[in-house]
Amino acid sequence: MENSFKHHADKLAEFADASRDGYAIFSADDILLCANKAFLEVFYHPEAELIGKRFADIMRTAFRTRKGPRIDADNIDSWLSRVQQLRRSRDFRLFEVDLVDGRWFLFSEQTLPDGEMLLQTKDITKQKIVEQHLNEHSRKLADLALTDELTQIANRRSFVASVQAEITRCSRLHCGMAFFLLDIDHFKSINDTYGHQAGDEVLRQIARLVKSTLREYDIFGRIGGEEFGIFLSETTRATALEVAERLRQQVAEETLYIEGNTLGITISVGIALARDKTSFEQLYADADAALYQAKHSGRNRVVVAEYCVIL
Ligand code: GH3
Ligand code: MG
Ligand code: MG
Repeated sequence: MENSFKHHADKLAEFADASRDGYAIFSADDILLCANKAFLEVFYHPEAELIGKRFADIMRTAFRTRKGPRIDADNIDSWLSRVQQLRRSRDFRLFEVDLVDGRWFLFSEQTLPDGEMLLQTKDITKQKIVEQHLNEHSRKLADLALTDELTQIANRRSFVASVQAEITRCSRLHCGMAFFLLDIDHFKSINDTYGHQAGDEVLRQIARLVKSTLREYDIFGRIGGEEFGIFLSETTRATALEVAERLRQQVAEETLYIEGNTLGITISVGIALARDKTSFEQLYADADAALYQAKHSGRNRVVVAEYCVIL
């Protein structure tokens, strides 16, 4: 019986040594007592250099030689003191570790009541690559869902969501908000004269031009067709007018080269202003009324909605 138990224990040791999973036993005072080949391979060091060493010294060597687990720290001692707090904090821990060479491992620590610990490592590089691809893919999908395909700026849905979040923030802080509706003048005649493709190119170029004149934190999106929206926070009436007027002027002065033709484009801008609680719908309605005025008073101009609170 005893013999057969010994036989099975030997078998277990034989399997452990042949296994692709790493196995290592640390004493209660964190000295590496034994380890199989797969474990030693994670640390890039031969048995002779690791067995009998303290966990902290093994990690110091990994840090110094930049081999084995990646240690993202400037100071190895503060890194070690953080890790020591986690080690043996529970009788079983599972965590992922990436190596300097790009491989990923799943580590598990099983601690016995007397403090002895079995550390296991499993190569999960393949699964990690799949996971990274999936994450990248879903990030791209999320970007696609938020971006207008033609102009590569925010689409209506993401523009409205960003504006609504900013309205909430500005209302709370009682800071001035300005909302612009920007519409290309006589755009239909561009399509009619030069074709729909040329019209698309005009939209792309106008979007690029407007974007380049705005500040990074201004919200800009394509609301639909040849109509764009801009939201400025923490803005006075004077600043809003200045920004809109500069935009109008820059577009009017720009010559667009579209499919061998030179085109002069103008835009009209309707502005809504608010300080206290408002909504996207309210700002849109006010700006739309102002835009209507701008169109009917000759186009290529900026109009502030007359019933807007003066900031
Ligand atoms: P106004 O100065 O009054 O704004 O005149 P307009 O011709 O610009 O206005 P209208 O709203 O009558 O025409 C807008 C045109 O925009 C009609 C539509 O066919 C065109 N349009 C809408 N979306 C797109 C698009 O994605 N690409 C192109 N090429 N044309 C578009
Ligand atoms: Mg138009
Ligand atoms: Mg329009």
